[in-house]
Amino acid sequence: MNLNKNNIDRKQRNLSSKLPKVRKKFSVILFKYTLVAILALLVIGAGAAFGMVRSILDNAPDIDPSDVQPEGFSTTIYNQDGEKLLSLADYDSNRIYVTIDKIPKNLQNAFIAIEDERFYEHDGIDPRGIARAFFVGVKNILSGNSGFSEGASTLTQQLIKNNVFAAYSEPSFIVKLERKIQEQYLALNLEKKLTKTMSKYEAKQQILEYYLNTINLGQSTLGVQAAANRYFDKDVSELTLSESAVIASITKNPSALDPIRHPEDNEKRRATILKRMLDQELITQKQYNKAMKDDVYSRIKQVDTKQSNSSIYSYFMDALIVQVIDDLQEQLGYNRTQAYNALYRGGLSIYATQDQTIQEICDSVISDPSMFPDNSDVSLGYRLSIQKKDGTTKNYSEYDVDAYLRQKLKTSRSQMIFSNSDEAKAAAEEFKATVYNPKKGDTLLGEKITTTIQPQVSFTLMDQKTGYVKAIVGGRGEKTGNLTLNRATDTTRQPGSTFKIVSAYLPALDTSGVTLATTFNDAPYNWPNTSQPVRNANRQYGGLTTVRKAIQNSTNIVAAKTMEIVTPQVSYNYLLNLGFTTLVDRQVNADGSVYSDIQYPTALGGITNGVTNLELTAAYAAIANQGVYTKPILYTKIIDHEGNLLYDNTPTTKQVMKDSTAWLLTNAMEDVVNYGTGTATKLNGMTSAGKTGTTSNNVDFWFSGYTPYYTASIWYGYDINKSFSSGSAHQIIWKTIMDKVDSTLQLKDKSFTKPSSITRATICTKSGKLAVSGLCDRDPRGSTIRTEYFAKGTVPTEECDVHVKVTLCKESKEPASKYCPDYDLVSYVYLIPPEDSSDETADAPYYLPDNFQNQTCHIHTGSSFGSQFLAPYTEDLKEPTRIPDSSESLQRRKIDSEEELDPDEQAISEE
Ligand SMILES: [Zn+2]
Ligand SMILES: [Zn+2]
Repeated sequence: MNLNKNNIDRKQRNLSSKLPKVRKKFSVILFKYTLVAILALLVIGAGAAFGMVRSILDNAPDIDPSDVQPEGFSTTIYNQDGEKLLSLADYDSNRIYVTIDKIPKNLQNAFIAIEDERFYEHDGIDPRGIARAFFVGVKNILSGNSGFSEGASTLTQQLIKNNVFAAYSEPSFIVKLERKIQEQYLALNLEKKLTKTMSKYEAKQQILEYYLNTINLGQSTLGVQAAANRYFDKDVSELTLSESAVIASITKNPSALDPIRHPEDNEKRRATILKRMLDQELITQKQYNKAMKDDVYSRIKQVDTKQSNSSIYSYFMDALIVQVIDDLQEQLGYNRTQAYNALYRGGLSIYATQDQTIQEICDSVISDPSMFPDNSDVSLGYRLSIQKKDGTTKNYSEYDVDAYLRQKLKTSRSQMIFSNSDEAKAAAEEFKATVYNPKKGDTLLGEKITTTIQPQVSFTLMDQKTGYVKAIVGGRGEKTGNLTLNRATDTTRQPGSTFKIVSAYLPALDTSGVTLATTFNDAPYNWPNTSQPVRNANRQYGGLTTVRKAIQNSTNIVAAKTMEIVTPQVSYNYLLNLGFTTLVDRQVNADGSVYSDIQYPTALGGITNGVTNLELTAAYAAIANQGVYTKPILYTKIIDHEGNLLYDNTPTTKQVMKDSTAWLLTNAMEDVVNYGTGTATKLNGMTSAGKTGTTSNNVDFWFSGYTPYYTASIWYGYDINKSFSSGSAHQIIWKTIMDKVDSTLQLKDKSFTKPSSITRATICTKSGKLAVSGLCDRDPRGSTIRTEYFAKGTVPTEECDVHVKVTLCKESKEPASKYCPDYDLVSYVYLIPPEDSSDETADAPYYLPDNFQNQTCHIHTGSSFGSQFLAPYTEDLKEPTRIPDSSESLQRRKIDSEEELDPDEQAISEE
């Protein structure tokens, strides 16, 4: 308003003329008396008043410009390209700080025109405004209205009131007056302090910036930027004059002047603002006319679509929020409240590692029902609160429903999985009827039934080189809340055979002298010092088996025997280095039993609490990343709201195995994908490696694997342990996602980088030692010679000592004697039985028969000749030293002849 003298006179006249005539005369009389009384009081109490004011000012808080900076900003999460993903808003933090240069002049002036027209002239308080307010206040009292209005507050005072006194309530007039005096004092003080370091105009702009970022503008918005977003879905810099006036109208009373709920009231104030702007020559008549004609309210967003969509965060954001809260406490020493405040009100900028393209691929595949069985089940979630007649409250959950059903069906197995939601709800109703009886005076306080689709799934994908987690899927089906069960980062599940790689083979290759060629006898075997047998999934025994083959086919007994060499403690140390945090070194249970994961069955993933998908993925990523473990991160840095680096989350890295170990495991796990248990994951034109995992009783299904670009793990199973057949569903999901990632990102196939520490040698897969040509290639089941990769320095130096060649007499089917005729001789390759040989292994038919040691042909016995047993070739293939003279030439000739190895002759050895 323009309070030049004429205006004041006019307004005074207006005000006076509005008073009812009857009361006018009375008011004038009373006013005179009041003035006299006030003057008298001023004179008499001058000293006392001075002391009082003095004391109020002494008690005023000390003020610094930083005290009036608005607090409570919404935190924004960006991706690595700086694109905004999400903003986190608490009840009073939906504020996005914007600097004054981004705020249109019309918006600035709209506030100034209506709230504090002499803003640029006064020094923090506006004496003319105070005088006027006093006058109006007295008038109000005299006319029977309630006292002093807020009219006298400058923007500086309002800023102080909001940011310094915001937390105080104002219980009495005296306190209110006291606060007002302090406010004025601090306003003067603040502007004085600011003008010490900047010009008056700059100081005013600074105050205006703080003010425009502080004010409550309704609909949970604070500050003009959040309001521009909320009401007009645009950046504050794009607001028109007409829109600016709408927003400036709100601040006087954010609920009553809410442009969505009370557009008519807002419109009245908007007209006032525009008129004042015109009067104060802040806008032209043309601008005024245009703004007045604008149908601005039809453009206001009725529903905060962005807010409601983002108010349920994704699993990735859930995990990120948990991680940031943890990091602020652990890394920066915040307490929980401080961490929470910083995240939700601190105006942080957090740079997430999420890749939206990859995340969308994961989400779309996992939300595709055709990837899952048609007849999906559901699990029940149930909450019931009942008040009994005596006033006590009883609470029940799905566990009570389960207990009820188990008792009813006389089973110890969980009954919390149902064919469909109707059945689940019926079960809850049935249970409820047993505990809730309104006739007996029970009152239902609350009931909530939820069902969750089963089986469930979790998926994590990360870049093994950077540790950046690119996508997380914490479950399937509708996500109904925030920080709900995240099966990728929170849930621990038994890892099954995926753990063989990290707990047994990795340390074995890295430190225990085991190579991919090393053979173990896959034969009946008990866990060390127990009578508990280790069983293979197929309940068969493969006999002598290389580590490579055991990885390919997921042979339990070989993994268990490998652990025996590694030792559980060494294995455990490796697992800790691989970033597993859910392992247990010693856990004493209530019943006195002790659990520890420093134990042999850890080789097969039989551990106390299981692992999370994320940590399993990170461990595999270390193998994919040439043995360098990188802590998986969900964000790279946190910037505070002033733009300073608050926390650098660059991941720590650590070489946790030799690069040769990593490459060898990778090479063996390529076989899993190409020939072994993981063929359903084989990608279209992209090299990959990985390991399957299925826990006993078919409860958990895993695949952890990687391409030269990304590492990903999938878990598939019921939330409540339930045996079922996955088929290859989980492997197909993994493949479908990875294929889409490759094609969408146009990733070119390449092989895994082979370090210079790798060499190769030709070995025999039954002995794991150097192959002997003419012997190992004549194993009855086909050649056992193959080229194997080794870490340099670990190539075996000995030749195969498992294969043995014996010359037999066709007639007697016994080792030939020197009297057996040449035409009756045939040579045959056997296996020397290992120490723990067993008739049950696949090798058993090919073992060298015991009696061959001391027996020769009983048909051709020209003289009493000794044993014809032929020792295995150990040195010179072509010149076997211990073959009897009589058969030597024949032997050499016949070795190269295929036709000798017919099934009949094989049968000889079985007798
Ligand atoms: Zn051999
Ligand atoms: Zn003979």
